[in-house]
Amino acid sequence: MVAALKNPNVDFRHRNLLGIEGLSAEEISLLLDRSDHYAERNRSARAPGKALSGRTVINLFFETSTRTRTSFQLAALRLGADVVNMAVEHSSIKKGETLLDTALTLNAMHPDVLVCRHPESGAVKLLSQKVECVVVNGGDGAHEHPTQALLDAVTIRRRKGRLQGLTVAICGDVMHSRVARSNIYLLHTMGARVRVIGPPTLVPGAMERFGVEVFHDMALGLRDADIVMMLRLQLERMQGSCVPSIREYFRFFGLDRQKLSNAKPDALILHPGPMNRGVEIDSEVADDIGRSAIQEQVEMGVAVRMACLEVLTRNLPRLEDG
Ligand code: ASP
Repeated sequence: MVAALKNPNVDFRHRNLLGIEGLSAEEISLLLDRSDHYAERNRSARAPGKALSGRTVINLFFETSTRTRTSFQLAALRLGADVVNMAVEHSSIKKGETLLDTALTLNAMHPDVLVCRHPESGAVKLLSQKVECVVVNGGDGAHEHPTQALLDAVTIRRRKGRLQGLTVAICGDVMHSRVARSNIYLLHTMGARVRVIGPPTLVPGAMERFGVEVFHDMALGLRDADIVMMLRLQLERMQGSCVPSIREYFRFFGLDRQKLSNAKPDALILHPGPMNRGVEIDSEVADDIGRSAIQEQVEMGVAVRMACLEVLTRNLPRLEDG
């Protein structure tokens, strides 16, 4: 999942960040610790340092994004990098250039990091095999979204003080969710108990092989949960309809106060965004600042991406002046 190393790094033994699968608990902890460091820096008046000064980061997003793209951009800028955002709608991709030709073209400009989001699972890994720079997966199809899982983990760890032993319920459209997949790998590796809850049409078969418990009833699945992670209904990835109606979906699987009362009294609510209010989550719980950590997730997104960019570029050679 995570490509082989070219620049040995004693702490983080991967050249790219393509997924959470394959990362050790120590490597995940390293990224979480660095994220905490940057979260504190971002909250204080202290400059975050210029670990990426002289580096070039290209954001190449073939799917829409608000949080991920902006926070990668901010993260790179805060660390002193030059950042180029490729607007796919204005690029030669519109003229039919393939993903790999685009990758080779960008590679020829010698960026240090390419952050890529693509609608096809596996596309970012393929791209990483064709370029010399560091590649970070900003979400590939329904496969993985590693920085999302890391930012969820930092948010949980800061609020609950740990990941180990917590019960995390991931609810909704698990089938089409790269967020769910990356979270399952991470939470499992870090010793949390993971449950998935959703209608049978939206929970893949054989989920148990990932070491998770499967529920099709919110009241049962949420019982005594420490963390309630809601997922967006990903209509754009569905072939045909997977739910009878939005109204019915909300009735059985949308998070509202009543369903939430099954979880622990101090259970924390997460959602990766974008939220569909009244579909998978009720505004009353989404906006409850005592329970919902949704805005904190966005804040941690910048810190996590700073940490990932810093750790991945630590040992890259630098161009000399002159
Ligand atoms: N923003 C997340 C993703 O890109 C979740 C979502 O779109 O529902 O996967």
